[in-house]
Amino acid sequence: AAMLSIPDLIRKKRDGGQLTDEEISFIIESVTTKRMQDCQIGAMLMAIWQRGMVAAEIQSLTREMMLSGEVMRWPDEWKRLMVDKHSTGGVGDKVSLVLAPALAACGCKVPMISGRGLAHTGGTLDKLESIPGFNIQQSAEQIRSILASVGCCIVGQTKMLVPADRVLYALRDATSTVDSLPLITGSIISKKGAESLSALVLDVKFGRAALYKDLESAKQLAQLL
Ligand code: URA
Repeated sequence: AAMLSIPDLIRKKRDGGQLTDEEISFIIESVTTKRMQDCQIGAMLMAIWQRGMVAAEIQSLTREMMLSGEVMRWPDEWKRLMVDKHSTGGVGDKVSLVLAPALAACGCKVPMISGRGLAHTGGTLDKLESIPGFNIQQSAEQIRSILASVGCCIVGQTKMLVPADRVLYALRDATSTVDSLPLITGSIISKKGAESLSALVLDVKFGRAALYKDLESAKQLAQLL
């Protein structure tokens, strides 16, 4: 594909245009390969925050983020056992820490890719890293081996696993662009898509401690997810 101009794409979204599949693919590849500078990524995030995205753009964003790294594959005998849940984020949100082992105890496999704190919300990965020696960076091969022995893991995005979300997640936090329906949807579903699940529970929060304060926005987020 012809090289697109990053400043032109930022201007297009800034002015309320709809990005094409090809343009979104180019943007996410540029984020992952660092062809796009952090300031350009920040400007694009703010343009998306301000202007939003239509369903086709959100679908494209989510797919490209998922495909920025490895989409995990599982042994045939695990295919129906692959499950996870993901929360949209809140304060004191600790369900993953007990749910993942509980599901493993029931015979499920839980390849959970989680996140750090965003805005004022707590991050499961930050909580786990407060345990000395806990390693949240695992390769897909290590994840397979952990699932074979203990049945669950909680890991972070890496250079191999949803790398686009790794970059965007940190920059959203730094640029006050966390509470955006398309950006939350892309972030959560790209991670869960890379896990190749057979079932997923989404825990959509609203209220004072969540990213959205009102039920109406939370319903919209739930619908998009
Ligand atoms: N959890 C995520 O992984 N991403 C978000 O954007 C919000 C909650």
